[in-house]
Amino acid sequence: MQRLGATLDRIDRKGYGAYRDLSGTHDCGPFVLFIDRVQRDPFAPPSLIRIRTRENSFDRDLFANPVRRVAFEDFLTRSVEREIRRVVRGYRGSGGSGRVEIQHASQVVLPRTSMVVEPGYVEARMAVGLPAQGRSVDARAAKTVLLEELPEVVRRGLEPAPEGGEDVVRARLHVETVEDATYLRGLLTELGLVAFVADGAVLPRESGASDRPLRGGAVPFRSPEEYRVEVELPNGGFVSGMGVPEGVTLVAGGGFHGKSTLLSALSWGVYNHVPGDGRELVVARGDAVKVRAEDGRSVSGVDISAMIGDLPGGRSTKDFSTPNASGSTSQAANIAEAIEVGSSLLLVDEDTSATNFMIRDERMRELVRREPISPFIDLVRPLHRSLGVSTVVVVGGVGDYLDAADRVILLEDYVPSDATPRSREVTRKFPPRAPLAQREVLPPRERAIGASSIDLRRGKRQTARSRGLHTIELGRERVDLSYLEQLAEAGQTEAVARIIGEWAAAGEVRGVGELARGALASVSKKGLDSLGTYRGHPGEMSFPRSQELAAAINRIRPLQAAPKT
Ligand code: ADP
Ligand code: MG
Repeated sequence: MQRLGATLDRIDRKGYGAYRDLSGTHDCGPFVLFIDRVQRDPFAPPSLIRIRTRENSFDRDLFANPVRRVAFEDFLTRSVEREIRRVVRGYRGSGGSGRVEIQHASQVVLPRTSMVVEPGYVEARMAVGLPAQGRSVDARAAKTVLLEELPEVVRRGLEPAPEGGEDVVRARLHVETVEDATYLRGLLTELGLVAFVADGAVLPRESGASDRPLRGGAVPFRSPEEYRVEVELPNGGFVSGMGVPEGVTLVAGGGFHGKSTLLSALSWGVYNHVPGDGRELVVARGDAVKVRAEDGRSVSGVDISAMIGDLPGGRSTKDFSTPNASGSTSQAANIAEAIEVGSSLLLVDEDTSATNFMIRDERMRELVRREPISPFIDLVRPLHRSLGVSTVVVVGGVGDYLDAADRVILLEDYVPSDATPRSREVTRKFPPRAPLAQREVLPPRERAIGASSIDLRRGKRQTARSRGLHTIELGRERVDLSYLEQLAEAGQTEAVARIIGEWAAAGEVRGVGELARGALASVSKKGLDSLGTYRGHPGEMSFPRSQELAAAINRIRPLQAAPKT
């Protein structure tokens, strides 16, 4: 620490480049500071550091298995972020001077590169804006950040509080909550369920722009008797809630009665949530995909023939490509691609669907004879019967869906009830004018996708990186992920970008599902760090799902795809 101080004194007021002398390892007493990458100037992206404690004196129980370990790493990332806010003053000169950051964690718990818990140490990966006045080194401010603020953050965020303290209780709750949710999700298949919503869960969010729970006025979830199941959790004891069985489930109800909120909670149920989120025990099959219309997206060689017959000009839909899909063809492609990568649950909301994809009534059938689209209503049952793919569909306006549903959940004033018997009465009273099409569906024909058309060059460099949550840059090409509603945080986007970059650089031709699953299995084995580009500090990444990885690949405009042989 003294040496670090002395080095800083020596380079005080020199040109900013002198900070390079800090690169390397510094012994700071209770921890080791690694300065892995020094920024070029105060306005460039911040310098990358790691802090590794000399020992790990946390209760072993907190990281006794892989699930707990991920949860505990998540807990520590959040603790460090909180302590940075408390302790670090931030702005101390030009550009990013004095800023200290750790990867921001969303409401979900994911494996991330921000924190490593090992039996012998705990390591936090952070970014620091090394302070400058103008473009010269400000040693005094740097000493405050590196020798005062950082050690304080470590002491409060990375070392165990005294036994019985509030932090100990919170850490335990954090890992137990995550372990319970993981266990619950693991039970779904054997219970014949696709999702579970615990009694007492708080589903509504603070606002359309915030994933935090609504405070004040939220009506806690209460399962209809007919769907109530009870399970015993490893930590939380017995919990009851609504089990959503396999098959076709219709969520009906008047406008603004909480239908989309329920569906959205299910779509986030593929992830574990932090304590206090309200959706800690709302889980869905881990491969569930929310499918929606996304007009304007590009589609490369996808077999949408189950949903859409031959197009004008005799264009086949077994191998459908377009740079600019319509509402209905984009939704059909989203479904085919979800099945291709392996999904057992589709979540569909009328709010974000193409009307002509969802339904076609008698009069239109009569008027428009040449309609290539078989509406989704004719497909939901065969999807389950032939392919074992269940659907939860939110419908407020189209009663025809009552015929297709195995069950109907009605939401009134945010309270769900079982409306299946009443829906049967209604269908007797107003029989369908045309029976539902009885058909089989085949799984979409698999594609082999190639990366040779993806050019990663951008100026002199090769790039495959994220730009925020919703954009990936591959060379000069941008991939738009705005409609991937289950992408949770920018770290996932970054990991996806790097995986695609590796694949493009290797130039392999493979099936998209195989590619996505294979890449994630390998990252899972080698660790997210293996996708890193800097020595030591890997950058900010979170573990993505194969569904989002495949979805990102599918949205690359110059993607080459051919039917798999
Ligand atoms: P719908 O899809 O049925 O039209 P939404 O799900 O969009 O309705 O919900 C309408 C509004 O009600 C939203 O602002 C939402 O946050 C709120 N809301 C949903 N569920 C609840 C609940 N359980 N308690 C309180 N407010 C809720
Ligand atoms: Mg809605």
